[in-house]
Amino acid sequence: MDPLDIIDNMDKIMPVFQPIISAVKHDVIGYELLGRYIEPDGTKSLGDFFNDPEVPDEFKTEVDQRLLEMALDQLLQQNSDCLLFINRNARQLMAGDGEDFLKTLIEYRKRGFPLERIVLEITEHDFNDDFDTLNHLLLYFKTYGIQIAVDHVGAKSSNIDRIRQLRPHILKIDMSISRHHQPDAFQDIIHSLSMLAHRIGARLLYEYIEDNHQLYFAWKHGGHYYQGYYLAHPDPALLTTDSLSIHVGDHVKEFVHREKAMVSERLAYTARSEDKLKRLTGKWQSPDYADRFIQEVLPLFEAESFRIYICNGDGEQVSSNFRKTAGSWQGEPQQIGSHWAFRPYFLENMMLMKVSHKGRLSDIYADIETGEMIRTFSYPLSDTCFLFVDLSYEFISENDYLLFQ
Ligand code: CA
Repeated sequence: MDPLDIIDNMDKIMPVFQPIISAVKHDVIGYELLGRYIEPDGTKSLGDFFNDPEVPDEFKTEVDQRLLEMALDQLLQQNSDCLLFINRNARQLMAGDGEDFLKTLIEYRKRGFPLERIVLEITEHDFNDDFDTLNHLLLYFKTYGIQIAVDHVGAKSSNIDRIRQLRPHILKIDMSISRHHQPDAFQDIIHSLSMLAHRIGARLLYEYIEDNHQLYFAWKHGGHYYQGYYLAHPDPALLTTDSLSIHVGDHVKEFVHREKAMVSERLAYTARSEDKLKRLTGKWQSPDYADRFIQEVLPLFEAESFRIYICNGDGEQVSSNFRKTAGSWQGEPQQIGSHWAFRPYFLENMMLMKVSHKGRLSDIYADIETGEMIRTFSYPLSDTCFLFVDLSYEFISENDYLLFQ
């Protein structure tokens, strides 16, 4: 497609709208505006036109502007109260200090389209050019009520610091990157992004959702909004909740069911482990006899554990490490006196056990020594001593309810 053809035939440009669905009510709350060009053999995406660095910015701005006006006309005409997500290239936007863009929006505000319903999507890799100017411009837009979304978050190494400064309302996470990463790596990226979102009060939108598994992932990892072919393709019409490809509520019901089943299996596992240890009630004497006590514990966790030890209430190890090597348990007395209170959640976990008199199962995490994904079952032997049973990856991987959290 020749860019000049497009500019000369502006009447062949048309907007399409891809629905964005809310996790809260399972309904369509907005649309991302995308562009199409009408050709004799059908419509073509304007993606290549916008992404081509050879195409002058003025051309892109002109087409963007036209699409925006057509889209706003359509939303007004149909009395839609949905959000409109608009893509803008940062450089293009900054060229005229964003005045043309703002002028158009203010015009439409007069006609009844509040600026609070505009979500401006800025791509993360645009941050490289003149970030301070962009930041100021976006701050200015925010004073008008315009919402800011950062697009394609996580696709490259994320500019956490810059996203913090921008304080966008929405982070758009590109699910297609999950297809190029190891599942663990992707999960870690998502974990840090959701921490960031939590801290700055941003909502997560997962886009490019293409199957049920990805929808489940998005639901499970704090997705406030969903977008993707699995739910709806971009369409010239403003698709309503009824015309989505799937019934989101039904799928979420199934996710909730699955999740509750896994939680209850984890609780049952914790209860079974507690019961095993209750058989040893009365055998625990004092830290001086900690190793002797662990000898009694070993056969109870033969199948699942590779390391067992005891700490006191200050997080100091009072027993040897008992480690299973080539199928048999070896004591490592040199570990007595190690301090573990510096580790995340360690003290909180112990104090909760002390109050509740119940065992606890940790989240899944990478063991510092082996690098393998493990969990720890911990149990209060008394008010001052706590048993730690590290569960092997082998055992975890055989049980879905332990492998996923
Ligand atoms: Ca976008």
